Amino acid sequence: MKREGVIATSGRLAVYDAPNKPFEIRRFPVRAPRGGEVLVKIRMSTICRSDIHSYLGHRPNPCPGVLGHEIIGNIVALGDGITHDMRGAPLVPGDRITWSEYFIPGPNYYTEVLDLPQKSPGVEKYGHMAVTTEPHHHGGFGEYCYVLPQSWILKLPPELTDEEATPINCGVATMICVSERAEIGMGDAVVVQGLGLLGLYGAAIAKARGARLVIGLDTVAARREMSTRFGVDHTFDPAALSEAALVKTVKALCRPEGADAVIEVCGYPEVIPVGIQLLRIGGRYVLGGVVNPESFVRIDANLLLRKLITLRGVHNYHPRNLVEALEFVCANHKRFPFHDLVDGKYRLDEVGKAMKDAEDRRVLRAAIVPG
Ligand SMILES: [Zn+2]
Repeated sequence: MKREGVIATSGRLAVYDAPNKPFEIRRFPVRAPRGGEVLVKIRMSTICRSDIHSYLGHRPNPCPGVLGHEIIGNIVALGDGITHDMRGAPLVPGDRITWSEYFIPGPNYYTEVLDLPQKSPGVEKYGHMAVTTEPHHHGGFGEYCYVLPQSWILKLPPELTDEEATPINCGVATMICVSERAEIGMGDAVVVQGLGLLGLYGAAIAKARGARLVIGLDTVAARREMSTRFGVDHTFDPAALSEAALVKTVKALCRPEGADAVIEVCGYPEVIPVGIQLLRIGGRYVLGGVVNPESFVRIDANLLLRKLITLRGVHNYHPRNLVEALEFVCANHKRFPFHDLVDGKYRLDEVGKAMKDAEDRRVLRAAIVPG
């Protein structure tokens, strides 16, 4: 079987030298993939909130850097040992694929014993390495990307648009993991704190898992409005109500006495205390948005104890969540308008503008299309 298309000698990347420095297009060499690698021609890369945090210097990221980890592309060439995707579908040049946002050095205690491969020592993420690190092309804001050994690859079915498929390997898979950890089940009442892209996917996933009621909290009116298309039944502006009024209102909707699960995807640790109050006795609280170091908050630990609250964090996701994310989008892309979430498209030389528009929330999900 043919394993290699025509390989270019170099490819463009949008590189930044330090946080807040302008992006510059630079060329780096392209070579044939080595064993375990796949060379991909990028079709689309969407800007995740964590790319913005990295660029602004809120979290450490090696520089000069190439960002972008929500990526899809077409296979150019397959290295030795890569013949099939996670589910056994054969891979050939030209196939459109997604892959895990991270890769690991190899089997270890976390993969073999704890079933937490996503937290393996030495785990690396696409769009999180210095561009000087060979093979240079390991971020989304470029023409090419190498899928590196010990990544998890999935072939994309033709019925999904690029806009539907690109956020699967970060936004969707993360929310599949969050909803799994929140144990959202049939008939549950769920509160989502933050109606950005993660919150919208979270609401849709909760409904797909059988939630009877989803309540969305966000200070931005346009987001609250959009969320009703993604399964949110009631929305509130937490800044327009006192904390006591918000708790009373939400609890009145979640009979008999509060939400079964609350998920935090807004990134502000100060929402955690009210989130705990919204839960019923025995409820589950899952953190998915507070990704920045030093997200300190003061909580009443006695409330956790007395209410028998389960508190969990989610960072990265299990490879099975990538499979589930793809299946969720395939099964629900006619029910929920996922395509519309990617509402801004930019060329590779417009990465700076795209980042600014995303940072200022002029777009929900900006996409870089290198062409
Ligand atoms: Zn991301």
